[in-house]
Amino acid sequence: MDVIRLSPSRISEYQQCPQLYNYRVIQKLPEPISLDAARGTLVHSVLEELLAMPASERSLETAVMRAPHHWQVQKDGDELLANAVSDEKEWLDRVNALLASYFQLEDPQSFQPTHIEEYLELPETDQLMLHGYVDRIDIAPTGEVRIVDYKTGKAPKAGYEEKALFQLRFYGLLWYRKFGTVPKLLQLLYLGDGQVIKSNPTEKDLLNAERKALQTGSDIKVSIKENYWPTQKSRLCDWCSFKNICPAFTKQ
Ligand code: SF4
Repeated sequence: MDVIRLSPSRISEYQQCPQLYNYRVIQKLPEPISLDAARGTLVHSVLEELLAMPASERSLETAVMRAPHHWQVQKDGDELLANAVSDEKEWLDRVNALLASYFQLEDPQSFQPTHIEEYLELPETDQLMLHGYVDRIDIAPTGEVRIVDYKTGKAPKAGYEEKALFQLRFYGLLWYRKFGTVPKLLQLLYLGDGQVIKSNPTEKDLLNAERKALQTGSDIKVSIKENYWPTQKSRLCDWCSFKNICPAFTKQ
């Protein structure tokens, strides 16, 4: 069996529905373009460039000015995406609105990021490898670590924050296992509705995230070995690319 590479999104896909994980990760079936995901990638590219600039140049005007360049690069590399966006002005207007929302949530001239789009991974154990890309890691002069992730969608409804925080606790765990310190702050910035979710994690929170990740990894191993991919219907099925071939909907 190949090594199973687990990122927060892979874990949540399997937990949402093992059959979805099978179609997407094991069978690698093609999926239609997600304009929301493509817009998110574009906003991340602009912010990545912006935050690498000297602090005094990190303005909304600069971000808006650089967005068309990043869009050009993105569509040059993806003809299907280029064709899917029929109104480029509307597309860039929405990107600019998300960038404006970012500037409402924090002032990028007020801090110095230490790592941008940082890849973290842990050594493989028992055919499982935990890894992920972290949008931003800031280390204060006092040594305190803040892990930040940007979302271009809206914040979860009250009561669902814990699920959203799993991703950042997972990244916090990668940091903790690699460098031995528990990050001081985890921060999710929701540009879609201008909300912020913050958490001061404990070592126990990070170890719980690790337990959850390893348990999911072990469940995936069983699914692969036994070719067992149960369906799990939920309201998220309406957004699933595989609904038209899924046994939960095609078999009576
Ligand atoms: S439609 Fe629903 S049950 Fe079927 S694979 Fe997708 S998420 Fe799973």
